[in-house]
Amino acid sequence: MGLCFTKARDVPISSSPDRSPPRQYQPPPKKGQEQVKSTPPPQPRPKPAFTSKPITVASSSPEIGTILGKPIVDLTSIYELDKELGRGQFGITYLCTEKATGSKYACKSISKRKLVKSKDIEDVRREILILQHLTGQPNIVEFKGAYEDKQNLHLVMELCSGGELFDRIIAKGSYSEQAAASMGRQIVTVVHVCHFMGVMHRDLKPENFLLASRDNDSPLKATDFGLSVFIEEGKIYRDFVGSAYYVAPEVLSRSYGKEIDVWSAGVILYILLSGVPPFWGETEKAIFDAVIEGKLDLESAPWPSISDSAKDLIKKMLRHDPRKRITAAKALEHPWLKEDGEASDKPIDSAVLIRMKQFRAMNKLKKVAIKVIAENLSEEDIKGLKEMFNNMDTDRSGAITYDELKTGLTRLGSKLTESELKQLMDAADVDKNGTIDYIEFITATMQRHRLEKEEHLFKAFQYFDRDKSGFITRDELKHAMTQYGMGDEASIDEVIDDVDTDKDGKINYEEFSAMMRKGDHDTDKKQR
Ligand code: ADP
Repeated sequence: MGLCFTKARDVPISSSPDRSPPRQYQPPPKKGQEQVKSTPPPQPRPKPAFTSKPITVASSSPEIGTILGKPIVDLTSIYELDKELGRGQFGITYLCTEKATGSKYACKSISKRKLVKSKDIEDVRREILILQHLTGQPNIVEFKGAYEDKQNLHLVMELCSGGELFDRIIAKGSYSEQAAASMGRQIVTVVHVCHFMGVMHRDLKPENFLLASRDNDSPLKATDFGLSVFIEEGKIYRDFVGSAYYVAPEVLSRSYGKEIDVWSAGVILYILLSGVPPFWGETEKAIFDAVIEGKLDLESAPWPSISDSAKDLIKKMLRHDPRKRITAAKALEHPWLKEDGEASDKPIDSAVLIRMKQFRAMNKLKKVAIKVIAENLSEEDIKGLKEMFNNMDTDRSGAITYDELKTGLTRLGSKLTESELKQLMDAADVDKNGTIDYIEFITATMQRHRLEKEEHLFKAFQYFDRDKSGFITRDELKHAMTQYGMGDEASIDEVIDDVDTDKDGKINYEEFSAMMRKGDHDTDKKQR
């Protein structure tokens, strides 16, 4: 399984505590921004990191940095800066080599110009403090040191060369409950370590976990503590922070404690097992409403094939009442999550397979409409699928044959009969030329919720409604479907019958968008 859930930078939420909804989309919450309320460290205080005395040298005193309170250093005298590894809102991360040892590290460089308000400085100081505090713990990135020069602040840390957790899942395609449990265990370990060390993370999400190396059994490392705070015992936190999909309900009601991290880890676990976020909406507000409603779907595909033990843990981590929510320590003892626990090594259906099955169950108008939309999607929207297509199209012909599909899906862990494969092939091959081309593959496997965006739906509707009358008539439908090799009377009747709810013989925009938004869960269940 894997990529159904968008790695598309989820919607970060942030606002100052005294601002009330409606909330706006905001840039990703980063260190040094308003939404992070500073929280003084708990007792015992970690070693102060920024108080090293200025070194007085006989001739001239070194200049002291304004952020760290330490002498300004020329980073390039200690490290060789190499290529850029990634870029955040806040800084640029470079590969770097320590000159004395030749060891490789990652260096996050933050322009001091961005740290204008005193709060920004406080926040970045706290992030460094927390990194120093947590370094050395399992599944937390090793922190090497903070350096300040005239223009920049540099945070040098362990190089995690395995990429982001979700990229790995996509590359791998499929994995077993056992593998999901292993990742889940590491994520919950991070929560446990943070809480144990008096830190509340507040922004747990897949993007914040990197793989230490490219090895298959590489550990996961939490790298970003930009929104973390030291927990003050008994304090009720009210700052509105986190990222929409992962945010706990009590953050939305602005009265929370460290239990919010268990919730976020529960959301990640849900995604690891099913490929989709448990609380989903088209807008930030819709996501929040889903979180508040808290209805957990553990019935739709692929949940019927997932063990009860996994579901039990997810329910416990996603308990609405934080007081009743399982703690990280207890979760680590859960039979499904614990080392050598119950999680089976049976492969989970891949996202590709699940989505192809859903696609198969759709009426033909919907298939064509999705194809129209797929042709218009941005590169960003379909990046992961493009990788998968290329992985399957082994002869690089630009089209997937029956054999390539069979090999590809088997590699992703699916066990399919010949007839099931034929049905999938047939469904995805919209233009019926015997192979699945790139756009057809995207069409059959893209994330359903990407389709539902209003602008996509409207564009697709206009494609069918050639005379712009506001209706798709029988003739227009026939015309469009003929182009895709399905303009026969039976198919047209099937579509009209399915979509034309007011029975006036044509399809208006409302009927069209209702069809497009109709979940495919039920049809998918029927297939199992
Ligand atoms: P953001 O939190 O917005 O992703 P960061 O500055 O934390 O921004 O990281 C930007 C990118 O740099 C990450 O997505 C990742 O690809 C890369 N990166 C960050 N830390 C490391 C690291 N320790 N090792 C390797 N790459 C890293």
